[in-house]
Parts: sequence; structure tokens; C-alpha cells
Amino acid sequence: MPSRRPFFFCVLLLLGSLPLPASEHAALATSPASTAIMTEAEQVTTSPADALERLYQGNDRFVSGHRVARDWPAQVHATAHGQHPFASIVSCMDSRTAVEQIFDLGMGDVFSIRLAGNVINDDVLGSLEYAHKVAGAKLIVVLGHSHCGAMKGAADDVVLGNLTSLLAHVKPAVVGIPNDGSPRTSKNLKFVDQVGRLNVILAVRLIRERSAVLRELHDRQTIDIIGGFYDIETGKVEFYKPLIGADPEPVKKPLASIPAAAPAHQDAATTKPAHAAH
Ligand SMILES: [Zn+2]
Repeated sequence: MPSRRPFFFCVLLLLGSLPLPASEHAALATSPASTAIMTEAEQVTTSPADALERLYQGNDRFVSGHRVARDWPAQVHATAHGQHPFASIVSCMDSRTAVEQIFDLGMGDVFSIRLAGNVINDDVLGSLEYAHKVAGAKLIVVLGHSHCGAMKGAADDVVLGNLTSLLAHVKPAVVGIPNDGSPRTSKNLKFVDQVGRLNVILAVRLIRERSAVLRELHDRQTIDIIGGFYDIETGKVEFYKPLIGADPEPVKKPLASIPAAAPAHQDAATTKPAHAAH
């Protein structure tokens, strides 16, 4: 990529991985805050793989405690007349999963769509179509997380006002986990996380199935559509990557055949692991 920003990140990452003398820590603390933002030229030359690499690196910085210092007023000024995000992330409303934090992102870096259970509905699809067909972003990530309250609510068949219809979006993931005899309620966190992972995989499939606009971009390899799962205990994200250009027909493999004990991304017919973030 032509930008100096990845190099800047690499330098920061390298610095973050090495023990530094106290004097150098002090120098880092007083170094100028970043004013770098995504430019149109940078977005155009960013591939889906480049976009994923940015997220890997950002999550590494977040986990290691070496986030980039940013000059926020300068970034506000620099993005005032346009935005060129490299990705869009559909994540849960959970207060512990703000993507700008867990991927160490700056102003204008990504489109962020957040709602309970990171569910996919027509409004989300419309937002994604704008983000990728109109605004040029390169990577869609559906990001679930461990111990998700929406998965717990769906597992427990919670009925409450409009929440009932929202949780119905999660129900296919609940029934898709094979019954191994263990409790299938919110009390069983292993089950809750199995549901959360499958919910992400189903959401990725749903995006392809229900959006002809995004399916075309995906088939042309202009964008990629992947899943991710955030561990609220470690701060780490693991990603699940579907095959680019996969069969656009609905998945024929029965959901029940997805292993319950193993991560759902091992369903090689439609997905493959992209990169388990350490
Ligand atoms: Zn959640």
C-alpha cells in the first residue's frame, strides 16, 4: 500500500513488542499524536486482505496496551469533508465491544453497525450496501462476542416487548447447535458461546443470500465477508473467513452437522478459518 500509515503501525507494533528503557517509554509518551486518516487513494488501493490485516494489527495493539495516540481534533478536521472507511463491522451493542476500541481505530476508519446480537435485518443490509457499493469499503465483518446477552436471551426464550422479535433473529443459531445433553440455557456459557459463533456464521451466509448487491461485490472479489468472535475475557478477536466467490445458493449442509464442541468455522463447505488471533 502506498500509505505510510501501515509502516507507522508496524513501527508502533514492533516498539510495543520489545522491552523499552524507561527513557524511551517517556519519549513515546510525548511523541506527536497521529493525525493520519484513510484517504480516498488509500481506500482504493486497499484490498479485503489489507483491510483484515489492519484489524488484526489494531486488535494486537489493543490487547498489548499499545494503542496509537491520536490527535482527535486534527482527525475531526481532516475527515470533515469526506470519509473513506476500509471496512464495515456489524457488532453487538454490548458495552464491552466497541469496535473503535478493540481494533484501535481512528476517525473515519470503519462503518460501525451495532445492535443486540449483531443480527442481520433489512436495515443492516441497506446500510452495508451503502457502505460497500457506494462508499467503497472493502471488508464486511460480522463480529459476535463471548457471553453475549442476546444469545442468552434467545436460549432462554425471553419474551419482552420488541426484544422478542429481535431475539427471533438469533433463534436459528440456538436450534442449530446439536443437543449433546448439556443444558441449553443461559446458565451454560459454553452453549451460549457456541450459539454466538454459529450466529456469526449464519449472519455471514444471510448477507450473501439476502443482498444481491453485496453478493455481486463478493463474487467479483471486490469485497470479502467474514465473521469474527471477540473474547470479553482476553480482548482478543478470532476471525472466520468464508470462501470468496462461494456458491451463492443457500447452504445445503444441514445446520445440525456443524460440530457443537468444535468451533463452527470448521464447517469447510462454506467457511474456513482465516487467522486465529493468537
Ligand atoms: Zn452481545
